[in-house]
Amino acid sequence: MTKNQGRVAVIGAGIAGLAAARALQDAGRSVIVWEQNATAGGRIGTRAFTAPNGARVLFDDGAQNIKSDGTALDDAVAALQNKPHQAFISAPVGLHHNGRILPGDEASNAARKWSCRGGLAQLPQSLADEVDVRFNTAISALRENARDINLLDASGDMLDTAAHVIITAPAPQAADLLDASVWRDGESTCAATERIALLRGVEYSRCLSVLLFFTVSCDDDSWYALLARDREHPLLWLARENAKGFVPQNKGTALVAQLGHAASTELWDEPDERIAAQTAHWIAEILGPDFASPQWSAVTRWRHSQPRNTIDFEVVNPPGARVLICGDGTARGRAPDAYDSGLKAAQRVIVTA
Ligand SMILES: Cc1cc2nc3c(=O)[nH]c(=O)nc-3n(C[C@H](O)[C@H](O)[C@H](O)COP(=O)(O)OP(=O)(O)OC[C@H]3O[C@@H](n4cnc5c(N)ncnc54)[C@H](O)[C@@H]3O)c2cc1C
Repeated sequence: MTKNQGRVAVIGAGIAGLAAARALQDAGRSVIVWEQNATAGGRIGTRAFTAPNGARVLFDDGAQNIKSDGTALDDAVAALQNKPHQAFISAPVGLHHNGRILPGDEASNAARKWSCRGGLAQLPQSLADEVDVRFNTAISALRENARDINLLDASGDMLDTAAHVIITAPAPQAADLLDASVWRDGESTCAATERIALLRGVEYSRCLSVLLFFTVSCDDDSWYALLARDREHPLLWLARENAKGFVPQNKGTALVAQLGHAASTELWDEPDERIAAQTAHWIAEILGPDFASPQWSAVTRWRHSQPRNTIDFEVVNPPGARVLICGDGTARGRAPDAYDSGLKAAQRVIVTA
């Protein structure tokens, strides 16, 4: 047995990668997670802003909330030693249509939703606490050998060697990584080619996530967020972060607006100020003229926001694969499903060891 046999490398410290790493670690496997960013979470993130009135305000700029309905992620959170304080959201999600606020879907509102008191980013941070994550390190290519797989950086330097590699990047990025990799001749190369084609078939929506702070208060607890009834409306989702307790009482209003794919694509290259001004215009049509001019705004661009279609985990991960692909491209564009996909990948490694 070579030194690295049994070692697993996970690429990405989003929710899928953290699920995989923790499950492998629980099964007694040695795991390193490689993350290109400085923090864990991927598409789960939180931004903080201190308003001129001194109020510290939070915005979840990626995933908005977690639906709690008996998922494996619920169980994991309950069992965490360093459990984040969950902020349950009691107000419902409504709809907006022609500038009016309408009731939302009852069934969808029945499931409990939560973020964390310090922002949803606390969830991946807590999950990452007991895992060996190497931050600020992008993996640019893999090199397959007879017994193991090397992980290479952009200069071609070898960072790690593992028996199994789990890739959790959004499907198009996973395809690029496989494409840049060196496979052994024959079957292995063919399998990689087929997997790349499958991964390239997964399309993601773009999303401009626009964060806006207004000095005027909107403590209307009849709604937490509004979804566009006409899904073609550019303002697809409008969330009031006050409903999560992210703004001190009577200290203003924090809104997260997510633009739909078409509007996000159209405005993608525009300056942040113009995107925010246009978004505030759409918001004012619903909430009134007080919301036409934010005191502060910021824009997060999600090129791969959520998958519009997915591929089956079993199809893209043929039996015996030593490089496994998971993440929401193989599940659904929801954090609990991405988490499940990480567990599946870990299970594959555990049973084939
Ligand atoms: C705007 C928005 C709103 C959303 N709203 C919700 C919601 O309300 N509820 C919900 O459940 N879900 C929501 N989602 C979806 C949810 O956030 C994702 O499905 C989930 O977080 C995906 O997790 P993941 O681990 O599969 O991928 P990611 O979170 O994308 O994690 C992949 C990680 O891999 C890293 N990485 C990629 N390539 C490399 C490389 N080569 N080397 C090293 N690191 C690499 C990335 O930096 C990233 O950290 C939303 C997503 C967005 C963008």
